[in-house]
Amino acid sequence: MKFNAKSFIEYVKQRNNNESEFIQAVEEVAVSLEDFLNANQIYLENRILERLVEPERTIIFRVPWVDDNGEIKVNRGYRIQFNSAIGPYKGGLRFHPTVNLSVLKFLGFEQVFKNSLTGLPLGGGKGGSDFDPHSKSDSEVMRFSQSFMSELYRYIGPNIDVPAGDIGVGAREIGYLFGQYKKLTKDFSGVLTGKGLPWGGSNIRTEATGYGLVYFVEEMLRAKNDSINGKKVIISGSGNVAQYAAEKVIQLGAKVLTMSDSAGTIYDKDGITQEKLEHLKQIKNVKRGRIKDYANKYNVEYLDSENPWSIKADIALPCATQNEINKEDAMALVKNEIVLVGEGANMPSTSEAIDIFKENKILFSPGKASNAGGVAVSGLEMSQNSARVQWSREEVDQNLKKIMIEIHGKILEYGNRGESIDYVAGANIAGFKRVADSMIAQGLV
Ligand code: NDP
Repeated sequence: MKFNAKSFIEYVKQRNNNESEFIQAVEEVAVSLEDFLNANQIYLENRILERLVEPERTIIFRVPWVDDNGEIKVNRGYRIQFNSAIGPYKGGLRFHPTVNLSVLKFLGFEQVFKNSLTGLPLGGGKGGSDFDPHSKSDSEVMRFSQSFMSELYRYIGPNIDVPAGDIGVGAREIGYLFGQYKKLTKDFSGVLTGKGLPWGGSNIRTEATGYGLVYFVEEMLRAKNDSINGKKVIISGSGNVAQYAAEKVIQLGAKVLTMSDSAGTIYDKDGITQEKLEHLKQIKNVKRGRIKDYANKYNVEYLDSENPWSIKADIALPCATQNEINKEDAMALVKNEIVLVGEGANMPSTSEAIDIFKENKILFSPGKASNAGGVAVSGLEMSQNSARVQWSREEVDQNLKKIMIEIHGKILEYGNRGESIDYVAGANIAGFKRVADSMIAQGLV
């Protein structure tokens, strides 16, 4: 049998009309698996890729709720249970107006490979709603979250499907979701991760994605006999991932020049210090305000409606959302002699942008590898919940670092090209192999 990535993508396009983000994610994987599949016929004979692109189950439901004026609102809820070959479905919930089936299928598909790379027993899933928590009161967010869980609880469980946070779903939302799950089921269990520390959460879960990203970047630089110390770093986003990526970059002696939100970018030429970062956390997490407030307080440049990619630096860490680096942005980064692009967000670079990084030999890591620290610590939260224990910060942080270093090692196995490392191919092949072998062992189900 012969696998041809181009015809496979045509087949996926036909079956998933208009799902552009999902098709983009599948295309990246199919192209990088082509040679590997042709050299390993067993995966073709078992039609593994055709099976992998079809979620095991897709749940779509109505989420009615009442706003503070007593008006009835209706949103749409989703949970995509993508693949359970190596463990219970695991992946975040996203609350954002751009959420649709295509976005969640791309995220769920990526999650399957990411979770496999962590080496932990975690299948892949994703879910969420087109609900926008911005400018909603706490009570509105609570009523919405309760209504969302009133349907979702039927499909999840600590050994079935364990959701976590993502864009728009942080500690507050996880709290309301968990409370409602417990009320409906009478069951206090590890059904969600990202829980608060006093009620079953794990140390370092909040920091995990951002810290893990920077640990991974350190490994990439180490492989080139370089280090992060003294480097200039541009970061996009100012949410969970961006905040803790910035924190770890600062701790390791590098300079963070930018952060952003959906309205604009701050450019702090002196570097964001830990003290200023604490203020930014207050703005975003407590006041739920705009990043512009940072520019006003510290009198730094504010780039209205712009992203950070035109600012000269050594390292770029996109930590906001999908497709936030397009072809022109990638060209600007290359022109400014960027050394490394490490994805903190999921699929922040378009395929044209990735091609430009490749052509120009920029060190580039895909989100499914470099942002896997979040789900890895979620996996550790599940283990702690099962054993009714709570590990120390140091213990979890060491485990996180170890997992990120191991992911780098697995990628080298399949992505080492002598002079350079193809992190995209390495991550896709290593992630695929574990899931594919498990699917074959479990028969045609
Ligand atoms: P948050 O909601 O905490 O923060 C998201 C940030 O990105 C905010 O600053 C937000 O700005 C900005 N943003 C969102 N959408 C857009 C947009 N369309 N254009 C410009 N900026 C935007 O989310 P997280 O930090 O949790 O997630 C960020 C990324 O990391 C996502 O891709 C997510 O899938 C990925 N990720 C998250 C993990 C986690 O553990 N949380 C794990 C692995 C990956 P504003 O404040 O204006 O909305």
